[in-house]
Amino acid sequence: MGISKGLSQNMRIAIIGGGISGLVSAYNLSPGHNVTIYEKSDEIGGLLTSYHREQYSIEKFYHHFFSRDIMFLNLLEELGLSKDILWLKGSTGTYQNGMIYPLTTPFEILRYPLLSIGDKIRLALFMKQVRNVDSSELDLISTEKYLTERVGKNIYRSFFKPLLNSKFGKNADSISAAWVVSRVAIRSDRGITGERLGYLNNGFSGFISAISEKIRNSGGIIHTKSPVVMVRNEGDFWYVNDEPFDYVISTIAPVLLKKCGINIPDLPYQGAACVTLGLKRSITNGIYWINLYDKAPYGAVIEHTCFAPLEWYGEHIMYLASYYSEEPASDIKDQMISDFCIKFSVKPDEILWSEIAIEPFAGPLYKSGYKNLMKSVLVPGLVLAGMFSEENYPERSIEGSVRAGKRAAMEILDTIREREVRQ
Ligand SMILES: Cc1cc2nc3c(=O)[nH]c(=O)nc-3n(C[C@H](O)[C@H](O)[C@H](O)COP(=O)(O)OP(=O)(O)OC[C@H]3O[C@@H](n4cnc5c(N)ncnc54)[C@H](O)[C@@H]3O)c2cc1C
Repeated sequence: MGISKGLSQNMRIAIIGGGISGLVSAYNLSPGHNVTIYEKSDEIGGLLTSYHREQYSIEKFYHHFFSRDIMFLNLLEELGLSKDILWLKGSTGTYQNGMIYPLTTPFEILRYPLLSIGDKIRLALFMKQVRNVDSSELDLISTEKYLTERVGKNIYRSFFKPLLNSKFGKNADSISAAWVVSRVAIRSDRGITGERLGYLNNGFSGFISAISEKIRNSGGIIHTKSPVVMVRNEGDFWYVNDEPFDYVISTIAPVLLKKCGINIPDLPYQGAACVTLGLKRSITNGIYWINLYDKAPYGAVIEHTCFAPLEWYGEHIMYLASYYSEEPASDIKDQMISDFCIKFSVKPDEILWSEIAIEPFAGPLYKSGYKNLMKSVLVPGLVLAGMFSEENYPERSIEGSVRAGKRAAMEILDTIREREVRQ
């Protein structure tokens, strides 16, 4: 196999992981270079893969995007998918003491009985002020400390804690204040009737197909069912499962790369278990996203068909979302479904079908001190880009992984150009 480092054409580049980061790197490198993606599962897309039902596809983990996701929106345009973008209303609520409380419009927030008028005014002022706060300064402060000092214990417990529980489970109190501040900024695209969220006509599977088709048409190779088990450096070259390459981009969690023989510092991650249900009827009174305050084996119920049009699916679709740090119980799916049936008065025969997706590396745990840890994650000569990268701090997202994937590709293209100039 002729590898000739220094030539700007036909560099051999391996990409570990076929999620958004890996696909975007490959999309930017495959015209002009020999790119090979290694993906361990039988499908590409990573956290953005879908179940393929007879009539439609539906993401295994609920997804939407935001008007600030500039690079993702640009990518959709390049792929000819702008016509498929829908801006939809994302309504929210909370489940507390056995009741659903809608919390989308100012009127609903005013009617919410678990906060006093004084607390509501404090909360509104805080939400306005916090949009101008620099989140990068808050890494070392815990969300609990930051919020109780600013808005008091009651607002923290009844308003923010359900959101934190739904995102971080048992780790909720130790999450860095940087996360919550950036979250408020991301989620501030809202009008009087709710938040404006992006979705794609018939879901994200069209996006995954379009980008992988572009990669293949440019000569890129995508290997599925191909876990990388070994990465090593020898002289000028890198070997991935014994295949030689000029450059390697790794998009997998640092601890997974470590298992491939690379000496790399670790970062804390959490897992996600997400049940998807097809239902005969709507359950949430028209609300898209409900965070749970009451104890449950899931942190949020997300009725997808209160967001995307029901007629695409012909049945109601519900997610039960849970994040975990320790291994989930083997009967987690049954536990989640039976608790949901009790809390939301759903009869088992109203459930048409159910699936569960479990991913141990669903996202970094943005605990206080994460930022410095993240900066120490380096491997000389190897390009890293993924949910753990700076582009995804302090909240991982599709946009962050698009940015990370593109930055990794640009780093390699710059190195190739520099070598060429030197020769
Ligand atoms: C429940 C949930 C909901 C989300 N909702 C949203 C949302 O609404 N909006 C938003 O912007 N973001 C959302 N996200 C975040 C978003 O999905 C991620 O930020 C993004 O998809 C991450 O892409 P990635 O390529 O960096 O990582 P991944 O998607 O994790 O890709 C990594 C890939 O590497 C593969 N891999 C692992 N080990 C190996 C190995 N040894 N060899 C080969 N391949 C390997 C994995 O199988 C995977 O395909 C959500 C995430 C979760 C978990």
